[in-house]
Amino acid sequence: MTRAGDSTDVLDVDRFRAPLRAVYDAVDANVASRAPVCRISGRCCRFEEYGHTLFVSAPEFELLLADAPPPARPLDDGATCPWQDDRGRCTARDARPIGCRVYFCDPAYQDDAADIAEAGIARLKRLVDDLGLPWDYAPIHRHLHEAREAGRFPAIDPAPGNP
Ligand code: SF4
Repeated sequence: MTRAGDSTDVLDVDRFRAPLRAVYDAVDANVASRAPVCRISGRCCRFEEYGHTLFVSAPEFELLLADAPPPARPLDDGATCPWQDDRGRCTARDARPIGCRVYFCDPAYQDDAADIAEAGIARLKRLVDDLGLPWDYAPIHRHLHEAREAGRFPAIDPAPGNP
């Protein structure tokens, strides 16, 4: 059900999955053209430790919940992402939001990252406006805790090796 404007509403992901994934593809292509280096440090997903916050819009969050596998770790109060496994890897790569797609530690890429993020968010905002979707751009843990309170946060993957 889609009722635009209220962050507690559940969005119909089928309404916007394809165009949102097209936005993600464009962001990925932009990132790939700059070829930033990833050393799998895992710092992009350890928010508290490295002093950053991942902001996510409502449609991005709903796509993540709908298309990602079960989380790899328990939901905390904002320190880490529940989809980061114990080796620092993202287990939700295919469904991860724009902020995750753009973030790399590579010092030589930081100016490009800002430009790519700005262009991606602008394209995402146009999509949200065109489809009349809620924006609700907020820290991912705000969305995550709301989902848990609504009984929508999935059970953790009991795979060996996860915390
Ligand atoms: S979705 Fe993946 S890349 Fe994004 S913060 Fe979570 S583990 Fe990291």
